Amino acid sequence: MIIQRVVLNSRPGKNGAPVAENFRLEQSAIADTIQGGQVRVRTLYLSVDPYMRCRMNEDTGADYLLPWQLSEVADGGGIGVVEESKHDNLAKGDFVTSFNWPWQTVAILDGSLLQKLVPELVNGHLSYFLGVAGITGLTALLGVREKGHVAAGANQTMVVSGAAGACGSLAGQIGRLEGCSRVVGIAGTDEKCSILVQEMGFDAAINYKKGGVAEQLRELCPGGVDVYFDNVGGDISDTVISQMNQNSHIILCGQISQYNKDVPYPPPLPPDIEKIQKERNITRERFLVLNYMDKEEASILQLCQWIQEGKLKVRETVIEGLANIGAAFQSMMNGGNIGKQIIS
Ligand code: NAP
Repeated sequence: MIIQRVVLNSRPGKNGAPVAENFRLEQSAIADTIQGGQVRVRTLYLSVDPYMRCRMNEDTGADYLLPWQLSEVADGGGIGVVEESKHDNLAKGDFVTSFNWPWQTVAILDGSLLQKLVPELVNGHLSYFLGVAGITGLTALLGVREKGHVAAGANQTMVVSGAAGACGSLAGQIGRLEGCSRVVGIAGTDEKCSILVQEMGFDAAINYKKGGVAEQLRELCPGGVDVYFDNVGGDISDTVISQMNQNSHIILCGQISQYNKDVPYPPPLPPDIEKIQKERNITRERFLVLNYMDKEEASILQLCQWIQEGKLKVRETVIEGLANIGAAFQSMMNGGNIGKQIIS
């Protein structure tokens, strides 16, 4: 059977910005028949995520991430429908997911490596399993719960950077649901800021591309910052940390502003900011969602319950066509998405 797939065409270099041409769409052949234990699946949705930038390097810099190989098919979070099954627990028509879904239209996969999905949990909105009811939602929820020290009634102010992105847009809402009294987002366009406030219940949002972040933060967070959900690192984070309170907490989720640079993870803070962090006893522990997978099931159920109750507002940027995945990745790394970026 002839299928289409996307392979890594070239590496951007550790210090380079990724471009669409780093990926290549090509035709390939898969077997016409499947073996015992295998399923043939048709791809429905693929997830496009910032961590994939590390997989474009020969050395990902992370022991839990394998590099993509040149001229080999790329992979990541994906969802598909079973078209043929020789696996005991999977049948034609089942919806399944994997963290290592190949970027191709149809694939033959080992059924034991797939998780069966229950569409009713997300009101039939299957792609949510790659976002709010998948790793993205888990990252936001477990980041807040494990590293945020949010306590209901403690009158805490939370700031979120990368706030209109997949994790950030959920993290701010979850911070509020868990008890923060004030939530302020930082994002890159006026449209994103407006969505955060009008749709997602943030108290305020700052467009960092217009400058004046420090002044606006002082005005919008008069009691200082108690919890900082950090998706971006760099100058924005330095500015936020400067306004954090004694014994406050950074949720070190990601540092997307540093991913096209050859720096260690997490990148060290500049000396003056590190001094503030130490003097004010601000926690900044590394957070990796994969370390908390024992809490996956209960957390997904919590997220699905919030979706069904209308307590979590979800945005997705859906781009059609496998051929566009490279461009979608480039655009996401430049802030072109609102919420979770999905290829359908
Ligand atoms: P996302 O949807 O792409 O959101 C990230 C947002 O950051 C973008 O929409 C972009 O919007 C903003 N951004 C991009 N470059 C920036 C820059 N140089 N300076 C400031 N803002 C910039 O990504 P996501 O899936 O939410 O992931 C967010 C972060 O979480 C990433 O760093 C990712 O690696 C991390 N993450 C961590 C874990 C974990 O286990 N710790 C798990 C999943 C994801 P604007 O610039 O327009 O605001």
